[in-house]
Amino acid sequence: MKFYIETYGCQMNIYDSEIICSILFKSGFIKTSNLKKADIILLNTCSVREKPEKKIFNRFLKINKIKIFKNKKLKLGIVGCLATHYKNNLFDKLKFLDLIVGPDSYNKIPEMIKNLKTKKKEIDVRLANQERYTKIIPIPNGGRSAFISIMRGCDNMCTFCIVPYTRGREKSRNPNSILKECKLLYKKGYKEIILLGQNVDAYFWKNMKFFQLLELIAKTVPLMRVRFLTSYPSNITKNLLKVVKKYSNICKHFHLPLQSGSTRILSLMRRKYTVEEFLLIIKMIKKIIPDCSISSDIMTGFCTETQEDHRETIRIMNIIKFNFSFLFKYSSRQGTYAYRKLKDNVPNSLKISRLNEIIRLQKSHSFYRLKQNIGKIQEVLIEGISKKDENYYYGRNSKNDIIVFTKNKSKIGSYKKVKILNSTFTTLIGEIIP
Ligand code: SF4
Repeated sequence: MKFYIETYGCQMNIYDSEIICSILFKSGFIKTSNLKKADIILLNTCSVREKPEKKIFNRFLKINKIKIFKNKKLKLGIVGCLATHYKNNLFDKLKFLDLIVGPDSYNKIPEMIKNLKTKKKEIDVRLANQERYTKIIPIPNGGRSAFISIMRGCDNMCTFCIVPYTRGREKSRNPNSILKECKLLYKKGYKEIILLGQNVDAYFWKNMKFFQLLELIAKTVPLMRVRFLTSYPSNITKNLLKVVKKYSNICKHFHLPLQSGSTRILSLMRRKYTVEEFLLIIKMIKKIIPDCSISSDIMTGFCTETQEDHRETIRIMNIIKFNFSFLFKYSSRQGTYAYRKLKDNVPNSLKISRLNEIIRLQKSHSFYRLKQNIGKIQEVLIEGISKKDENYYYGRNSKNDIIVFTKNKSKIGSYKKVKILNSTFTTLIGEIIP
């Protein structure tokens, strides 16, 4: 049987799709990149925000036309967060759907597909309290970087977030299986690993904390770059920062979601820090690792957000000047505490105008941060040929900035010293040091 898989949402979903591919290959399925040739089509879905969710439903309606007009035997499945979010209700929303599988049940997909020969529909959305994929080696999609999930789920229960409901409680993975995967990726020629977790620094296995795991990985694959995301701000410790500083192969980049610059809103979101505490965390990071980059997630228009709260967000952004941020307007998610108990009372037009304001601000901060690199010599991993001009390579420095520089005989996948000459609003321009 041939399967086709399409992935939406975060890096964790990309990684999970690699796991699903590995599971299906093991059972003799063949992957196709042509929808029309597939016997089963899976969409690995995201339910964090309303907009991508609508996109997925519309996509499914289009895909269903293949089933109606071309291949009546075609099976359609939804896997990932939408599966656990809507559960059985998805069969009502999408009548033609055959399969629903939650993030902790991917091992069962081959068996469930086989069952569809005799059964009309199959569903498994149970959440586990232990990592279930330690023995599966995912199949990355090429490139130089590969993801490794080290923990799943989240115990934080932020009031706006659906993740604890769709992915369950925190569960960390056995370090031995993580190290095995790192070594394997190194042998296969990967140059960079990105450690993933909804709360990556909440990793905990027996007595091992995240900073200890990180050090072990940095020592085990010293020629590979190591990145990690997403960090929960109050989980950043001096021990972690010391490890990041000590190992040159650990990238100097932190992704710390601020969410709002108003302590009142943070408290309504049930975030575990105040704005002042967040600023102290930034101060501690910059003191120990001055030349690092910090990116963030910020949303506008959370329940009851006033103009004063919004001004606070602007104020904090101006103090920190994040290198980069993912910026959103709040969309209420069914099933969350905020959906049930708080008032989503900021008009959509106001959410959008506040969002546009912080987008403009972030652009100016990103440019400011990029320009700070000019004149410096940085180690860059050559990741490929620039899409805009084939005479140029592109790559990233340790801070995760994208750098474009003139092509020479250096190999893609090698590390080179690059002098930063200039910057656009989004990209650094450099030259390789001979
Ligand atoms: S920390 Fe909060 S926002 Fe992040 S995944 Fe957990 S509940 Fe969601």
